Amino acid sequence: MSNRAPLPPEIARRRTFAIISHPDAGKTTLTEKFLLFGGAIQMAGQVRAKGEARRTRSDFMKLEQERGISVSASAMSFDFRHYRFNLVDTPGHSDFSEDTYRTLTAVDAAIMVIDGAKGVESQTRKLFEVCRLRDLPILTFCNKMDRESRDTFEIIDEIQENLAIDVAPASWPIGMGRDFVGCYDILHDRLELMDRADRNRVAESIKIDGLQDPKLADHVPPDLLAKLREEVAMARELLPAFDRQSFLEGHMTPIWFGSAINSFGVKELMDGMGEYGPEPQPQKAAERQIASDETPVTGFVFKVQANMDPKHRDRVAFVRLASGHFERGMKLLHVRSGKPMAVSNPVLFLAADRELAEEAWAGDIIGIPNHGQLRIGDALTEGEKLRFTGIPSFAPELLQAVRSTDPMKGKHLEKALMQFAEEGAAKVFKPMIGSGFIVGVVGALQFDVLASRIEVEYGIPVRFESSQFSSARWVQGPKDLVEKLVNVNKQHIATDHDGDIVFLTRLQWDIDRVVRDYEGVKLSATKEMM
Ligand code: GDP
Repeated sequence: MSNRAPLPPEIARRRTFAIISHPDAGKTTLTEKFLLFGGAIQMAGQVRAKGEARRTRSDFMKLEQERGISVSASAMSFDFRHYRFNLVDTPGHSDFSEDTYRTLTAVDAAIMVIDGAKGVESQTRKLFEVCRLRDLPILTFCNKMDRESRDTFEIIDEIQENLAIDVAPASWPIGMGRDFVGCYDILHDRLELMDRADRNRVAESIKIDGLQDPKLADHVPPDLLAKLREEVAMARELLPAFDRQSFLEGHMTPIWFGSAINSFGVKELMDGMGEYGPEPQPQKAAERQIASDETPVTGFVFKVQANMDPKHRDRVAFVRLASGHFERGMKLLHVRSGKPMAVSNPVLFLAADRELAEEAWAGDIIGIPNHGQLRIGDALTEGEKLRFTGIPSFAPELLQAVRSTDPMKGKHLEKALMQFAEEGAAKVFKPMIGSGFIVGVVGALQFDVLASRIEVEYGIPVRFESSQFSSARWVQGPKDLVEKLVNVNKQHIATDHDGDIVFLTRLQWDIDRVVRDYEGVKLSATKEMM
């Protein structure tokens, strides 16, 4: 990295990241403050209002119904100082879905928010592991320091041990709960005090000449000051100092302490993302690696969202630009179909509003409205036939049969199911024998979400029922052999939404039998997203 020529300024100033956290740790609040400081919203409260409306419906299926809300926040762009931040939202509900993983393939870094009283929680850990698979650099924000929190060393220890990552304090909290007054900025020797009177205001930072500076006593009560000096001295001795390289490689996380709701510590975190966070990183394709400063535009679809506008059956494909300078109206090659595609109405997600994107650079996320041509994993280029890798497809672990409880609507069900399959929300199999569908998901809650969406978005009441199958395997091999297999095993055969052949079964024994009897045929648990 160090010996490469610097990136063009427009690319170098971009930071594309996601926030990972356990529900309730403060992701929404932090996002709102980002937008506030990013100048994207005038007053904190706009996103809040939406967030609250979302949350008060404790039933999260209703939450999912509010597609408009979760969608407008799928990707947000805003400027902070001379940086352009692209914040990609990870799906908020607690059930783990493939969507989450795919989102994390589109970012270069993540912010991990933890609750100062609760530490590392289950969902945080899962998401962290996904980030680690990709060696994503992670910045940590320890939130809710205005409440009774754990001891600072204890929090840091827990992260180090639980997540096996070095933790370097970027700031150090002074007091906690009702006595919390602010933080000592270890990286810049500054004092940051919290303004309790105005939650949206940030007090001026106070330049301090090291921890022995007598000025400290003007701002920090004596007992807290003594503790601060002692703790920071200890931290400097016991904890690693911040090392940018180690952070960029994913081995170290800098931690900031703060209170999102009080707007405290947020700017420091944003500065940290700008100053130390990664520039748009090279993206892997099967053929080669794509550097972000290559001139031709390339990008890949990591998410497809349908029904953004309930009145239109449009879809928006979210594209992470891997390289180049994109301009509206550009004709790009849709690699999978081999067809050119004029991208005339791309959308850039500036805060809450959708806006037409006139231009975008490597690292940006643009939305491309389409009628279903664009699928997850698709590549768009200026002509090169690229296949981006690293976008995972998961083996469905749970299979259920689905049918409409309204016999008149059975026909429309297929259309709805196919659309969700394209979105990547589920795997849908149409068995050769019989008339129903089998749906495969990774987490059980996904069935409830689907049932709810099919009802809300398509007006089709459905019921999921246990299925006679529990595993699905994609069948690949020489045509004649596959044909023979299909003819002999019709009761096990289905097709997915692409028309590819799938072998369904309840018994591992069946799978072993096929592999034994049809040498040359492969049964795979996942299918490439192409
Ligand atoms: P999310 O589920 O991670 O998006 O969490 P939210 O941002 O919705 O926050 C969960 C709850 O914690 C809400 O009631 C927030 O008002 C509250 N909260 C967020 N940040 C803070 C903070 O810094 N201090 C305190 N005391 N509460 C906070």
